[in-house]
Amino acid sequence: MSSWREFIRDVEPYVPGEQPRGDSVIKLNTNENPYPPAPGVERAMREMDPAMFRKYPDPSAGMLTEALAKRYGLERDQIFVGVGSDDVLGMAFLTFFNSQKPILFPDVTYSFYPVWAQLFGIPYETPRLDADFRVKPQDYKRDNGGIVLANPNAPTGIYLPLDQVEDIIKANQDSVVIVDEAYIDFGGESAVPLIPRYDNLLVVQTFSKSRSLAGMRVGYAMGQKELIQALHNVKYSYNSYTMNMPSMILGTEAVKDEAYFQETTRRIIATREEAKRRLGDLGFTCTDSRTNFLFITHEKAAAPELFEALKNNGIYVRYFPASRTKDYLRVTIGTEEEMEVLYKFLESSCLDRI
Ligand SMILES: *Cc1c(COP(=O)(O)O)cnc(C)c1O
Repeated sequence: MSSWREFIRDVEPYVPGEQPRGDSVIKLNTNENPYPPAPGVERAMREMDPAMFRKYPDPSAGMLTEALAKRYGLERDQIFVGVGSDDVLGMAFLTFFNSQKPILFPDVTYSFYPVWAQLFGIPYETPRLDADFRVKPQDYKRDNGGIVLANPNAPTGIYLPLDQVEDIIKANQDSVVIVDEAYIDFGGESAVPLIPRYDNLLVVQTFSKSRSLAGMRVGYAMGQKELIQALHNVKYSYNSYTMNMPSMILGTEAVKDEAYFQETTRRIIATREEAKRRLGDLGFTCTDSRTNFLFITHEKAAAPELFEALKNNGIYVRYFPASRTKDYLRVTIGTEEEMEVLYKFLESSCLDRI
């Protein structure tokens, strides 16, 4: 074997959900928002002058940072923006998890966490969620090099009450605790109000789900300024100009329209609660999801077969074949019309045939 092969950084990559081409499928597989972005986003896009692309973008994304600071009642130096929260989370792993001790995250959670840990050579341990997929806070009260909790968790949808999140942050003041709130706008209390009390707390959120901008790639972290400064130092040591101009401009418009944000998240929550009832009537068990997706299992129909049957009928959902998730499907909440198509298909006796 040529020696250069020996020195390649060998990683098992994260596998994102499929993005089929065209609009003919009902896409309930990657937790995108079924509604368009706020109207101001379209307006700003039409008014954009391509002449500005001649220049580099503002490396600090000042306009967007300012809008976020205002929205969350924080200072500008308490916010870090990145190219989707995947970029922000990756930077945070690289910045904060640099000890020899293992970092901790649940055995069932966002499957990108172990990939970053492997890529950056960070040791990690994965405390087991209980039988109902709930985090056991006592598992996070031992020596560690950092903690990552998705809250609500994915792909389970389960929310850990804020007092228990705080309990974990409080018990780990020698480690950075990252709370990944990709789905917090669909129910549950954010950890943002805890930021003034804990210098080890980093809250990460995204525009991909509740703000309908997955395609623009906008994510952000919030924390005390020392953490944010450390993130900036790593980012500027790697690539200064990460976020492009359109993402900054359109992201800013999305943050400004609070009424539209409230209305679309309210609709998704209502559709989710209706989906719990309708799928329950069809023999599915759903976890108590506080997100824009459901994690469901059926008493008779096997998940992989149902996944295939749905796909063959143009309905894409997500299946995770790992041992603890193999009996479940993750179904993104679509529009009411899209969900009707799903219910109709399931009602049309397909469940008996599987
Ligand atoms: C979707 C998701 C992300 C990443 O979203 P971006 O599109 O990169 O902002 C991060 N964490 C969790 C738990 C997610 O579900």
